[in-house]
Amino acid sequence: MTSPPANPWQVMMTTVRAVTTETPGVQTYDLTFDDAAVTYSFLPGQFNMLYLPGVGESALSVSSDPGDSTKLRHTVRVVGNVTRAMARLRSGDKLGVRGPFGTAWPVDDVRGKDVIVAAGGLGLAPLRPAIYHFIRHRSDYGRVTVLYGARTPEDLLFANEYDVWCAAGLDVQSTVDIGTHDWHGSIGFVTTLLARLTLDPARTTVFTCGPEVMMRFIAAGAVGRGVSASQVFVSLERNMNCAVGLCGHCQFGPTFVCKDGPVVTFDRVRQLLLVENF
Ligand SMILES: Cc1cc2nc3c(=O)[nH]c(=O)nc-3n(C[C@H](O)[C@H](O)[C@H](O)COP(=O)(O)OP(=O)(O)OC[C@H]3O[C@@H](n4cnc5c(N)ncnc54)[C@H](O)[C@@H]3O)c2cc1C
Repeated sequence: MTSPPANPWQVMMTTVRAVTTETPGVQTYDLTFDDAAVTYSFLPGQFNMLYLPGVGESALSVSSDPGDSTKLRHTVRVVGNVTRAMARLRSGDKLGVRGPFGTAWPVDDVRGKDVIVAAGGLGLAPLRPAIYHFIRHRSDYGRVTVLYGARTPEDLLFANEYDVWCAAGLDVQSTVDIGTHDWHGSIGFVTTLLARLTLDPARTTVFTCGPEVMMRFIAAGAVGRGVSASQVFVSLERNMNCAVGLCGHCQFGPTFVCKDGPVVTFDRVRQLLLVENF
């Protein structure tokens, strides 16, 4: 498990440097720490608690490159109080950060293997740091395939980066649930992309993040193709407050998502995710 920050309650103030609208209702915030003495680093898949004074705190995964400490980015969908207030932030506004928290995608443990990154919707945001890591260390890995599904073409997150990822040696495949007249790509769930993929189960690891039902089907599909359930990693999402396993808000069976997760092996949570029959 990754170590929590030395003082998990310390809020580090940041300044918003840019706000980019990615898809309808989803923005990316570029942040820099106000205190130049702050040394912050994170692992792919970890999250921060972002704090808007007077409004509240939310758990949000880091979506930037772990190899570039000059940029801290979060990609956020507006759903409630905190995220709605965040959507009004502009360049120069302040945002507090606690973290980083939680477990990471085990990018070091899977060196030499083939990796399938399977994302649905906003689930691509917590996986993007892992994608950047694979690109930076491309020769350390076998085949790296990104399978990504969104509801419609306009919901495809980070669409302007896919060509760059392909040029860096990744196989990037996207699909949408509902096509439009100008969409010439795949239509169907991301699980159909996995079903079409040739893979060597003995050397394959799967990282998946997205709606829970999607992760269940991706995990079931991979295990059904012979990939070990201990080589399928899912990122859980539960409502959380403290981020350090004290308040119990995010308890999921014996697992506290904030400190034992969010990234866990599928074999650890398969019963809890109600997948028993395969
Ligand atoms: C580890 C982790 C990483 C996350 N990363 C991201 C990210 O990168 N980008 C992003 O947009 N969101 C992410 N989320 C979800 C995000 O934390 C919630 O959407 C956010 O806290 C909502 O805050 P709010 O005040 O705007 O909404 P609230 O007013 O708190 O909630 C609005 C509604 O959403 C429900 N809700 C809130 N949080 C969750 C949750 N975690 N799971 C299920 N239902 C919830 C509430 O019960 C309520 O019905 C992550 C959550 C976790 C646990």
